Amino acid sequence: MPDERQAGAARGGCVEAPEQRRIVRTAIPGPRSTQLHKRRQASITDGFGVTLPVFVERAGGGIIVDVDGNHLIDLASGIAVTSVGAAAPAVVERVREQTERFTHTCFMVTEYDGFVEVAEALNRLTPGDHPKKTALFTTGAEAVENAVKIARTATRRPAVIVLDHAYHGRTLLTMTMTAKNVPYKDGFGPYAPEVYRAPFPYPYRWPGCSRHAAEQALDRLKDIVLSQVGADRVAAIVVEPIQGEGGFIVPPPGYLSGLQEFARAHGILLVADEIQTGFARTGDMFACGHEGIVPDLICTAKALGGGMPLSAVTGRAELMDAVPAGGLGGTYAGNPVACAAALGALETIEQENLVERARTIEALVMPRLRDLEKTSPVVGDVRGRGAMLALELVRPGTTDPAPDVAKDIAARCHADGVVVLVCGTYGNVIRMLPPLVIDDALLLDALSVLESSVREHVVTPGTC
Ligand SMILES: *Cc1c(COP(=O)(O)O)cnc(C)c1O
Repeated sequence: MPDERQAGAARGGCVEAPEQRRIVRTAIPGPRSTQLHKRRQASITDGFGVTLPVFVERAGGGIIVDVDGNHLIDLASGIAVTSVGAAAPAVVERVREQTERFTHTCFMVTEYDGFVEVAEALNRLTPGDHPKKTALFTTGAEAVENAVKIARTATRRPAVIVLDHAYHGRTLLTMTMTAKNVPYKDGFGPYAPEVYRAPFPYPYRWPGCSRHAAEQALDRLKDIVLSQVGADRVAAIVVEPIQGEGGFIVPPPGYLSGLQEFARAHGILLVADEIQTGFARTGDMFACGHEGIVPDLICTAKALGGGMPLSAVTGRAELMDAVPAGGLGGTYAGNPVACAAALGALETIEQENLVERARTIEALVMPRLRDLEKTSPVVGDVRGRGAMLALELVRPGTTDPAPDVAKDIAARCHADGVVVLVCGTYGNVIRMLPPLVIDDALLLDALSVLESSVREHVVTPGTC
């Protein structure tokens, strides 16, 4: 690593973009990563987990280069963040230019144009052509918390409805809204009040016929709202239009529009958490677009900042303006460097037509995942949209979750230089979130590694 850094300095500070090819030079993690990981363990809380303990030297396009010189194919994008790549030229250039001018003023003290430009872009890009306004924050959890604050102030109602398998963050309110206990909630209670949960239509696991999942999930939600909570006490229903951490669960057609219709009929706000699905990821600018729903408020983060921490709530102007001045904000909310990065990321998404690119990725990958589903008894389901695709692993011949199989397949991918993530309420889903700018050859190479990891797993005795 020091050699490469010096070489970078000699080129006038320019770090060369990594060669877009998978290269496995050492065991993964290699010796340098292992050494650094030991230092980490001595100095950093065990409360942070790690998917793959390699230390990164540089990254870009579809490649992560580690300190041992391995070129790993990135099917994670830092959890759906670096959709434009981890060093997109438009992001790097705007960040460089902004840091030279100023790094921070605090938008609540003195203003700057980047914040306004990002807000204008979000008002334009998010679903619906009604008058909209935006508030910028720093993390996804903060966006969700603030959407709830706005919904409560605007409706003067306390309750929030969330769904099974939901993930909304790690702060007190958002961890309460999150469904999964271990590791997100366990031991961290008591939780925030006035959060109620309804079933989410998970087609693969819906009891009975999955064709009725949308309708039956809606019936249950309506019953919970009307008979248990009281519709006039409900400020908002918060939904991920495709669930992320919960397992890339795509609700059946009709569910989201049914939710919207019910919410409208009762003066309940529909809040879309598009933190993972947003900005071209699913083959539409937002996943709400697949069913044409128009949420009252939409939360974004992750890919918005092109790798810099930035989040937003965008919504109907009259709702966004219901909060008195000073009620929203944050020292770093809409930081100028993060706004500059976001403008670079949004420009890249639009100019390089990454919405279309996400659809192409689906067209390349999905048929091969379907083949795997047909030929591998451990693959129970494949699903997703655009460049948000997943395999659910089960015990052969059943739908019993097989988290150990998912872990084993992920470990095989990691050892062969492909970074994949595991997710799902039952820890048995392998998800793919490649940067949208990944080239075809790299994507197909990663897919071959995944395929052989699944097949190798099957022939290994005693693991399933
Ligand atoms: C990641 C995520 C969050 C939380 O975002 P942070 O930036 O980690 O706070 C919230 N909702 C969804 C759907 C997410 O994927």
